[in-house]
Amino acid sequence: MPGKLKALQARDIPAPAGQIESATRYNADMTTACDASAYELHNPEAPDGVIFLCDHASNKVPEELGSLGLPPAEFERHIGYDIGAARLTRALADRFAAPAFIARWSRLVVDLNRGEDDPTVVMKLSDERIVPGNRDLDAAGIADRIARYHAPYHQAIAARIAESRGKGGFPVLISMHSFTPVWRGKPRPWHIGVLWDKDARLAKPLLARLHREGDIVAGDNEPYTGALANDCLYRHGTMNGLPHVLVEVRQDLIADEDGAARWAARLERILRDAIEAMGAPAIQFTRPLPAAKGPAMDEKTRTELEAAAFRRLVAHLRARTDVQNIDLMGLAGFCRNCLGDWYRESAAEKGITLEKDQAREIVYGMPPAEWKERYQKEASPEQQAEFAKAMSQKTHS
Ligand SMILES: [Zn+2]
Repeated sequence: MPGKLKALQARDIPAPAGQIESATRYNADMTTACDASAYELHNPEAPDGVIFLCDHASNKVPEELGSLGLPPAEFERHIGYDIGAARLTRALADRFAAPAFIARWSRLVVDLNRGEDDPTVVMKLSDERIVPGNRDLDAAGIADRIARYHAPYHQAIAARIAESRGKGGFPVLISMHSFTPVWRGKPRPWHIGVLWDKDARLAKPLLARLHREGDIVAGDNEPYTGALANDCLYRHGTMNGLPHVLVEVRQDLIADEDGAARWAARLERILRDAIEAMGAPAIQFTRPLPAAKGPAMDEKTRTELEAAAFRRLVAHLRARTDVQNIDLMGLAGFCRNCLGDWYRESAAEKGITLEKDQAREIVYGMPPAEWKERYQKEASPEQQAEFAKAMSQKTHS
């Protein structure tokens, strides 16, 4: 296995040091061995008010999978990737000074815009063409593809969103795709398609502005529908209650550098205007949140459950006075003080001002100084060393 991974990484597109560092950081809690090679994070240091996604960016296949039994010409066609989409996504992300998650491998390896349980997550048949390297793949083979090339992409996006939300952000997710001008012998009339599910916050103002341009034929949930359970935006947009939209651009418009640059400039203006028209960002759920069993969970119930878990954590920490803050920091990079600070920051987002010690007292159950007096022990050299190590890799605020 490690040999295979090495081969994968050796073929990786070299990225500036910053990108690799950042991509690794967002993957810090991953359990699968495969990592940044599943995607490229473009503009990793950019603020994440808008996050671009490009699921079908690439027509490359990891070396270990050969050519999936297909002649190379097949990868130049739309079945391998969304022609022009990566180019357009990069140009847009640069114009917005926004991060973009860009797939490294072809959709024929695994389709990042499908849920793990979707029967087409690994396509055995694409546009009436059998994919020999996928045809006989069993459940374990599919699970392996997902673990290596699908999970890292989605985990990284989820982590970036969580980080942004943790800082009080409401990232707008924009997923870029492209479609063929002709499908099964029939020309498609649209230049651009706006795909959405139930959250119309961004889709509607975007469609209105595209129509207003006069020379753009815009499809509303054309050429495809945006309602697909567990696709990329369902997972990261709908389930997080974040504003999102999927934009399909006709391939011939963005097939070369010039076309992509032209459409990026135009779409930047239109998208910015649509985002502004959306009003203040907020969390809005349009689909019931998943519950293991029983009735679907609404947002209020979810918040109550999260609060209950937090209270239990706090009660636990109050009881376990033997657990020192320095141990928590050394082991997990956070401690009681961090919890108090997170509480204070969340309160501040709602306009409630708490002093540092007031917020920490909610966690300690007494003034922090009193807890320190009663329970804090002298730190051993080992504890201090662990702590120093943890602080050197500390990624939370
Ligand atoms: Zn696509």
